[in-house]
Amino acid sequence: MSLLAEDTEAADLGLRWKPGFAALGPAFFTELRPTPLPGPYWVGRSEAVARELGLPTDWHESKATLAALTGSMPVAGARPIATVYSGHQFGVWAGQLGDGRAIMLGETEGGLEVQLKGAGRTPYSRGGDGRAVLRSSIREFLCSEAMHGLGIPTTRALCVTGSDAPVYREEIESAAVVTRVAPSFVRFGHFEHFAANQRDEELRALADYVIDRYYPACRTTDRFDGNAYAAFLEAVSERTAALLAQWQSVGFCHGVMNTDNMSILGLTIDYGPFQFLDGFDPRHICNHSDTQGRYAFNQQPNVAYWNLFCLAQALLPLIDDQEVAVAALESYKTVFPNEFEGRMRAKLGLTEAAEGDRPLIEGVLKLLAAGKVDYTIFWRRLSGYMADGNVEPVRDLFLDRAGFDAWLLSFSQRHAGTDRALAAELMRRSNPKFVLRNHLGQQAIEASQQKDHSGVATLLALLQTPFEEHPGADAYAGFPPDWASTIEISCSS
Ligand code: AMP
Ligand code: MG
Repeated sequence: MSLLAEDTEAADLGLRWKPGFAALGPAFFTELRPTPLPGPYWVGRSEAVARELGLPTDWHESKATLAALTGSMPVAGARPIATVYSGHQFGVWAGQLGDGRAIMLGETEGGLEVQLKGAGRTPYSRGGDGRAVLRSSIREFLCSEAMHGLGIPTTRALCVTGSDAPVYREEIESAAVVTRVAPSFVRFGHFEHFAANQRDEELRALADYVIDRYYPACRTTDRFDGNAYAAFLEAVSERTAALLAQWQSVGFCHGVMNTDNMSILGLTIDYGPFQFLDGFDPRHICNHSDTQGRYAFNQQPNVAYWNLFCLAQALLPLIDDQEVAVAALESYKTVFPNEFEGRMRAKLGLTEAAEGDRPLIEGVLKLLAAGKVDYTIFWRRLSGYMADGNVEPVRDLFLDRAGFDAWLLSFSQRHAGTDRALAAELMRRSNPKFVLRNHLGQQAIEASQQKDHSGVATLLALLQTPFEEHPGADAYAGFPPDWASTIEISCSS
């Protein structure tokens, strides 16, 4: 018997819903219900997100909640929708895409949208089955919370639930649903969709909605002669620049920076074949399907800029002046490097900018690249050196000892007169001990596939507070094993 057959049976999550995005009207989405999955079980939960949503403390004890978050029971008061968007994929116009497997329950009174990813087919599924596999769902769940722990803007994840229903990818896998949470899941591609179809009225309604809700300052801007749409574009561009600076400074490779995977709020969104760098390789390609390296690590800031041009193109009917639209993107070129340098300075324990910082940063990145030195371990050990003065653990990471010593000399000169304890503390807060490396995720996934979900919980706890020491957890902060380099992550999810 389908639980959906009876409308009277609905799970009360204890949340109050408001129309939110759905107030835009039917041109923007399709109302529908998730397709139930049999025998749902918990795989991972983030209590931090539960608190943010305002869920009752015993929220996860209810079987109805488990069923509802797996799409197997309606949620009381919610009117689920799938939204339509389009986008550029790998540099090419892909036409209409849309939420092919993510179904939004709605927006809570607290202003958070809740989405079930993997909850079944929608009118935008194209050839897809509307499902997500356990492996990629665990990766998305953990990385959302890891990014938040790192202080990087991101969509969040309340939980992953699983079902033994088979899902067919390269091999048979099992299904899972990630409950994602964000103030908005609107993407660049939503704007591109209405622009490409010459639906200026909807385009304007969407822009007005996003501006009023998330960028209200654009209404009273004195930039661009008060052109709110240009100010909006500039604000999105600057948020994106700041986001990219954070990705680059922490060594995060997104893997599929298509315009439909770019958040209008400058959040990290759609975790697919992402990777935190192990050894520092600026040209690293984390997506096995990205044969040309379009989304290689060092391409990301430029790709984001390219994507912003697509957004500018889409907003052109509203901005109404090509030169103004181009001008609105100008500040990306200064915001990105400034933000990046600021982040790198903090990693170096420097509170203020000084001349010579750029060569100091470039110098260390060059050394790290030349030796493919482990990125996360290097920075954490450098923080340790600042605290205890023992340079050997850092020095040991480099084959080119002379090169490292020369850099260290300039680093030490730059720090002449600094309060070392203060600098060490800044570095400890800027250089995480724990990042979601591929092999860590893989181990948790393999255990989960055998029904042991404890690895997911352990990783989550470390990644939510990645700057803490977590005594006893050093195994999660070590070098990747040899087999890590053989992990192939593709778009298949
Ligand atoms: P992604 O590469 O994950 O960002 O997905 C690109 C597009 O394909 C989006 O419109 C997704 O909703 C859709 N999609 C991806 N996987 C599936 C699937 N298994 N079923 C239906 N749609 C999917
Ligand atoms: Mg996507």
